[in-house]
Amino acid sequence: MILSFGQNPAPEPLERARRALTEAGLAFEMIVCARSTLLVVTSQCDHLPGHKFSTMPGVQKVVRLGSRTPLALEGGRTLVEVVANGGKLSVGGQKEPVVIAGPCAVENFEQLSAVAEQARAAGARALRGGAYKPRSSPYDFQGLGLEGLKLLKEVGLANKMPVVSEVMTSDQVELASDYIDIYQVGARNMYNYELLKELGRQRKPVVLKRGLSATIDELLQAAEYILLGGNLQVILCERGIRTFETSTRNTLDLSAVAVLKNLSNLPVLVDPSHATGKRELIRPLSRAAIACGADGLMIETHTEPDHSYSDAGQAITPQLLAEIVEDVALIASTLRLRDGLVLPLAEVAKSCIQPDAVKGLSEREQIFSGYRQSRDLR
Ligand code: PEP
Ligand code: MN
Repeated sequence: MILSFGQNPAPEPLERARRALTEAGLAFEMIVCARSTLLVVTSQCDHLPGHKFSTMPGVQKVVRLGSRTPLALEGGRTLVEVVANGGKLSVGGQKEPVVIAGPCAVENFEQLSAVAEQARAAGARALRGGAYKPRSSPYDFQGLGLEGLKLLKEVGLANKMPVVSEVMTSDQVELASDYIDIYQVGARNMYNYELLKELGRQRKPVVLKRGLSATIDELLQAAEYILLGGNLQVILCERGIRTFETSTRNTLDLSAVAVLKNLSNLPVLVDPSHATGKRELIRPLSRAAIACGADGLMIETHTEPDHSYSDAGQAITPQLLAEIVEDVALIASTLRLRDGLVLPLAEVAKSCIQPDAVKGLSEREQIFSGYRQSRDLR
């Protein structure tokens, strides 16, 4: 059950309600959302009459929970915004879809620096890179750990990009907080409830990846753990699930994107890299992901893909990344135009184009040049 007190409630009724719940032996969490302050009763209370709560001073609404994931459906932030390292990332909330890019693993300064610079130039808005790598084999590269986090901070700052990196244990959450801007929960750890609870206590956003065999409901329940802790900035990520199909590493479940966008307010990313395992499939599936409503993409990128320490087969070049960023802009603006949300891309581009900068370019190049200027990508 949720008691909603509306926006900026007076402290006294809120305090009185908290006392009353405690005296009734009920456990609860207080969550302050943009539009309301909520007391979420986590104890079983179906046997208690609704008026016991709805008549409490200050209570505007009592929501009886039919759902196990009320916060994942209603309570989180629709738009997650991160300002860090001199850059800004906005995911969800009807904003233009974003692209997050970078290597599977942080390998060394030169590698990370080169890929960050080129990914930024290609239009990526945040840098990804694993410092702690969950590898199926203990003999494979396990990541640079703390050294990798420090490189992410340094390179993120140099390129004005917020950074995303995976944490696998509660101890790593604390350690990573000085260096990264967005935590990633990997597919293998979606069921790691102690980790989810720890991330609920943080105030940095979390990209929560769907487990290899997780249902959509289980993904939402995992998000619920983080939200219930009071961290409202959760971004869901579809990264493919394990099926009987063997021609791709996993099967990208694009229906999950449409289902999640229907059910939940939370932003949804798609990771076509781990979904397919194959670089030639990244572009078509990126296009499809945006067309079905994803708020952005997370793509493994490397300046020398074949030499990646991990996941080499799915890494793409920054050149291909730039093409995908343009695909994203084109598809999203076409669909938003169709849905009556924005001006045509060409109009947006024309309105911000600097004539000198586009002399000699084809019309297509002019449109994208204007688009990049409009998004301050170059
Ligand atoms: C990753 O993003 O590097 C990763 C390991 O992904 P996943 O957890 O989806 O396999
Ligand atoms: Mn990887």
